[in-house]
Amino acid sequence: MALCFDSARLHNPYLTDDHQAWREQLRRFVDKEIMPHVDEWDEQGFLPPELWQTTAEFGLFGLGYPEEYGGWSEGIDLYHRNILSEELSRTSLGGLPSTLLSHGIGLPPVMAFGSDALKSEIVPPILQGRQRISLAITEPSGGSDVANLRTTARREGDHYVVNGSKTFISGGMGADWFTTGVRTGGEGGGGISVLVIPAGAKGVSRTPLDRKQGWWCSDTATIYFDNVKVPVGNLLGEEGHGFLVIANNFNGERMSMAVMMEASARVCLEEAVNWARDRKTFGKRLADHQVIRHKIAEMKQRINSCQTYIQHCSREMIAGTASFGDIAMLKVHCSQTVEFCAREAMQILGGIGYMRGNRVERIYREVRVNAIGGGSEEIMRDLASRQYGL
Ligand SMILES: Cc1cc2nc3c(=O)[nH]c(=O)nc-3n(C[C@H](O)[C@H](O)[C@H](O)COP(=O)(O)OP(=O)(O)OC[C@H]3O[C@@H](n4cnc5c(N)ncnc54)[C@H](O)[C@@H]3O)c2cc1C
Repeated sequence: MALCFDSARLHNPYLTDDHQAWREQLRRFVDKEIMPHVDEWDEQGFLPPELWQTTAEFGLFGLGYPEEYGGWSEGIDLYHRNILSEELSRTSLGGLPSTLLSHGIGLPPVMAFGSDALKSEIVPPILQGRQRISLAITEPSGGSDVANLRTTARREGDHYVVNGSKTFISGGMGADWFTTGVRTGGEGGGGISVLVIPAGAKGVSRTPLDRKQGWWCSDTATIYFDNVKVPVGNLLGEEGHGFLVIANNFNGERMSMAVMMEASARVCLEEAVNWARDRKTFGKRLADHQVIRHKIAEMKQRINSCQTYIQHCSREMIAGTASFGDIAMLKVHCSQTVEFCAREAMQILGGIGYMRGNRVERIYREVRVNAIGGGSEEIMRDLASRQYGL
């Protein structure tokens, strides 16, 4: 009997029948609308525009957003989001969630800090799949040192005038809105604000970053702002409080990345076990060589610890007691685990693992981005050590 994705998951006592029903519904959607096209979309280097409509009709964009904006939030908790991250990761197409669900990092700051008028303008078309939003923080001069970002927004009457550029922006070529970190004040974190900038505004231009190592189907872009006039009503929160707006987003982004990495590690384990069962070398199955069995056991050991850590941090996030440092280290633990599992699975698959068109090859090719995007491993460790006043 082949190992399936689910049998490598530890029991989570906090999942209810409702969560299970959501998983089944979602799995049917992913199996029908995404799974059959994974290789084609990866090779062509973009997702079909119709996918936004299909996904909106299924209701996926609205998950966790208030009903008044077209979402559904009744009875929804973090576990529903975690299940979404897990089920999408079964596809192994890392560029898909980073683009199709770019609103997952672009929209929460609008919901948390935008005016009612701004939310009414922006949120419904995004949840209906008619418009898209991306988060634009990283600049050509650097992404880790957010407090020193250089894009400026100068107040002139009822507008800001924005100048500068952003790079590595996921979903950036197709976005209608950019949730953008800008400098409205002096140096350092206290001079930062966040503005929602319409992509169609005069002075906004963009170029694709389409020669990436992985995430081929994701439309990553560099965005340029040349004297772009943005209404003051598009400011999120107060002027100078942008660092708080940006930081508020981090735990959610890092948790979903952690869940995706753990689930991708499970894909690697599943592929490795199934191959080791079937493949014969030196007159016996690969699985009958102790070296191979030990690789599999160690993959499972590391995956188990990610799952337990995810369960712990999820409970703390739901209770509102999660620490930035613990979630930062969860992200590091999961990026190290998926990197380890991708390597070991690739080794067990041998030559076939090196060929395009299989999930292990794609996860291996894309694995490094997890240790860089959403806060690099070095920055995560720094953040965690600060809990001790270091
Ligand atoms: C495919 C992809 C998609 C992305 N999507 C988005 C997006 O949608 N929106 C967005 O805003 N950004 C996005 N990013 C950018 C990402 O967040 C940054 O790449 C990341 O924050 C690191 O910034 P950087 O690349 O400028 O590296 P740098 O900040 O220049 O750092 C380079 C290296 O030095 C290390 N380093 C930096 N400072 C220190 C220090 N103090 N101590 C020790 N080591 C240090 C870093 O960890 C890193 O390894 C994306 C990146 C990629 C690759």
